[in-house]
Amino acid sequence: MVARFRPVKQLIKRCLQYLAAYAGVRMHFMYKPKILILMYHRILPANDRRAQLEEPGMIVTPETFRSHVSMLKQHFNIIHLSKWLELKNSGAELPERACAITFDDGWADNFEFAFPILKELDAPATVFVVSDMIGTSRQFWPERLAQIVTCIAKDHPDQWSHTALDWLKNPATRYQFTTVAPTQEELGELISNAKALSDDEIHDRLNIIEHVLNLQGQINKPDLLNWEQLSEMNTSGLIEIGSHTCNHIRLSNEVDNVVLEYEIIASKKLIEKRTGQAVKTFCFPNGNYSAGALELVRKNYVGAVSTKKGWNTAASDSCLLHRIGVHEDIARDKTAFFARLSGWM
Ligand SMILES: [Zn+2]
Repeated sequence: MVARFRPVKQLIKRCLQYLAAYAGVRMHFMYKPKILILMYHRILPANDRRAQLEEPGMIVTPETFRSHVSMLKQHFNIIHLSKWLELKNSGAELPERACAITFDDGWADNFEFAFPILKELDAPATVFVVSDMIGTSRQFWPERLAQIVTCIAKDHPDQWSHTALDWLKNPATRYQFTTVAPTQEELGELISNAKALSDDEIHDRLNIIEHVLNLQGQINKPDLLNWEQLSEMNTSGLIEIGSHTCNHIRLSNEVDNVVLEYEIIASKKLIEKRTGQAVKTFCFPNGNYSAGALELVRKNYVGAVSTKKGWNTAASDSCLLHRIGVHEDIARDKTAFFARLSGWM
C-alpha cells in the first residue's frame, strides 16, 4: 500500500522544489542586498575510492560542481567572502545578488577537482583550512571512524563483540555491525551519534580500537591539501585561504582560553607566515562556538561563518554568517539546487 503512494509523495516533493527554486530565490533578490554563502566540503567523482568512505553530506561530484558554478555565474555576482565583509564592515554599498563559495577542511580534492573548474569558469572561492593538519597524515575523526568501521566489517567481523566497540552501538543506529560495510547513511548516523563525545575522547577511543584490533597500517591516510597546493591556489588570486582552527576541535564551552587562543590566533599566524597573505576569515568547526571563542574571532578576523542555514544582509553579524550547505544528493539538478539555495528546503 505504502509503495502505491510513493509516486504521489515524489510528485509533491518535486512541486515544492519548483516552488522553492523559482519563488524562494526570487524573494531573496527582492529584498535589500543579501549574500548567499555556499558551503562545500569535498569534490570527488562518484567512483573515487575516497567517496565511498565518506558521509554523503560531504560530497559533490566534479560534474555537478561545474554545473553549480555555471548556474551561479548566470544568476549571481560571485565575490570573495572577505571582499563582501570589508564592504559591509565599512558601510559601503553592497553588490546585488552576491554569492560566495566556501570549502571547509582543506581537502586535497579541492585542488584536484574544484580548482580547475573555478579557474576555467573564473569564479573566486574561499578554502577554510586546518593549519596544523596541512600536509600531514593526520585524520579528522569522522573519516577515521568510517574507515575503521568499514575495515572491521570487511576484514575482522568476528571482532564486533569486542568491548572496545561498545560505545559505537547506540540503540538508535540502523547499522547492524555485520560483514556488510555500513552504507553512507549508516556512517552518517554513527558519526552523528559519536558527536555526544568530545573530539579528544573520540580520537582516544579510536586509538584504542586501532590498537586492540591491530588495525594500524590497514587504515588509509587522509587526503589533505599541502602547502604547495595551497600556495598555487592562493597565488592564482582566485582562492583565498581562511582559518578553520589549528586542529579542528569544536570550540564549545568546555574548551579553555589558552586552547581557544591557540586554535583561533596561531592558525591565522601560521597560514599568513606560509602563504604571505592576510587571513581575514574564520570558520567554526561543526558550527560550535563559546562566548570566549566568538570574542577572540571578533578581535582577530574581518568575519566568520557558521553552519546555520540561511542568507545574510548588511545587518547580519559579520562573525556568525549563515550558509547553505550543498551536497550531491540534494543538489544534483537545477531545480533541486535552486530549491536548496532558497533556504526553504
Ligand atoms: Zn570542518
